[in-house]
Amino acid sequence: MKLLESIDKFSETSRVAVRCLDKQLTYKQLKEYSDKIAMYLLKEFKEDRRPIIIYGNKENNILPVMIGALKSGRAYVPLDVTFPEARINQIIDEVKPRVIFNFTNDSLDLKYELEIKQNEVDDIINMPINEVPSKDKWVKDEDNCYILFTSGSTGKPKGVQINKRNIDSFTKWFEEFLEFDESPKIILNQVSYSFDVSVIPIYMGLGNGKTLFTLNKETLEDLKLLFTELTSSNIDYWVSTPALAEICSKFDDFNNEKIDKLSEFIFAGEVLTKKLVKNLMNRFPNAKVINGYGPTEATVLISAININEDIIECEKGIPIGYPINNCELNIVDGQGNKLKDGEKGELIVIGDSVSIGYLNNSEMTNKVFFETSEVKQGYKTGDLAYYENGIIYYCGRKDFQIKLNGFRIEIEDIENNLRKVENINNTVVFPVFGEEDKISHLIAFVVLNNNNELSNLKNSTLIKNELKKLIPSYMIPRNIKILNEFPLNTNGKIDRKKLMEELK
Ligand code: AMP
Repeated sequence: MKLLESIDKFSETSRVAVRCLDKQLTYKQLKEYSDKIAMYLLKEFKEDRRPIIIYGNKENNILPVMIGALKSGRAYVPLDVTFPEARINQIIDEVKPRVIFNFTNDSLDLKYELEIKQNEVDDIINMPINEVPSKDKWVKDEDNCYILFTSGSTGKPKGVQINKRNIDSFTKWFEEFLEFDESPKIILNQVSYSFDVSVIPIYMGLGNGKTLFTLNKETLEDLKLLFTELTSSNIDYWVSTPALAEICSKFDDFNNEKIDKLSEFIFAGEVLTKKLVKNLMNRFPNAKVINGYGPTEATVLISAININEDIIECEKGIPIGYPINNCELNIVDGQGNKLKDGEKGELIVIGDSVSIGYLNNSEMTNKVFFETSEVKQGYKTGDLAYYENGIIYYCGRKDFQIKLNGFRIEIEDIENNLRKVENINNTVVFPVFGEEDKISHLIAFVVLNNNNELSNLKNSTLIKNELKKLIPSYMIPRNIKILNEFPLNTNGKIDRKKLMEELK
């Protein structure tokens, strides 16, 4: 695998693999530590190659654990600290891991067999062993490399399985697209490891000898520290959802005088607005801005485009770009017939980038994944789009999946979990839109079982506190409005239209 070969290769240089605040790991250390983790997994669990779970944020030693898993032929499941205990336990039930690497200081009541804490990771990587895992133990084409859990409409997260073949398909195309080489450049590593935009710095960055400049949760929560870090970062490549750049572009220091090497912005994961691109073009006149699009199920990105002035001037929105060259991207109608240029339909993707499906969830897998007569794997994205002159334009979703601040959320996931909160009878959650049709926040309308005489504010705080135990914090609606009853339409169903009018 290219990533693993690259770590071996650059371990013979003095290059730094990852830096976070005042801590760093060189490629030499990354190789040595990952070898030890791999040997530990191979010795401890032998032929039992069940995935490992990694619970943490952006700790440097997470990388040797991920890479050690790959070197031992195992997949890793990264779970961010924003995941509450109940969600982690649901995932553990699906994955049935033999081991969890816990990089937090939290003591969670998790249903697992074996937990390895941070200090125990240190013990493993400091063990005086010289044995290295042989290459025939490394992950092979059809072996899963990682499993990412995304919001599921039933209220239970779905585990997208990504194997080595999927990753090779993505990296081969995107490295060519970006004209990536092995020069010693610095790439931003900000996106949480439980979201697949982080695959870009890991597999393409480390796979080409780059240094990962890491922003952890604490840094992102402290704007002063964030700017101190960014202005001393020397980053060449910016990789994030537009959400982070939007926050940064509110500050004067975000410009090419302060961050002078930055030559490429790679955005992915949600709608990129013209307003943001124009702002960046003013602040960083020599930098390229790339809009990448793709669902986790088809490995990070399946289309991309370099945004130029002409695109900005055109009255249409920013396109999601040219399709990946080693997959087929079609726009189809409700019967699966291919549509012509300019006709809007569902975007489907067929080829090596497409996952084999959701872990232990054939019902959801069968709904959206399919196999073609040429035995190629396909995925129905649920995204509406159209082609024009070989370029794809995105026009929203078919369902209730949304992106909020770069996070993928199924509205029904929030509703189903809200219904588990005591005293909630029923609920409807809506996205509230801001500029350029971007979602600014969520609002939940709630009817209680018993009128407890508490104020809306008190009830809303109580509900949010309960909901925090069930779903990640980024999914909690900002506003909760208690109603006495829902308005009903003529079919006796909740009148969503009427409720939406309240938002205007
Ligand atoms: P995720 O699996 O978290 O990467 O989310 C995938 C979904 O995010 C896609 O199906 C789209 O709905 C949306 N998305 C990803 N990239 C873009 C983009 N560049 N523009 C608009 N929507 C996007």
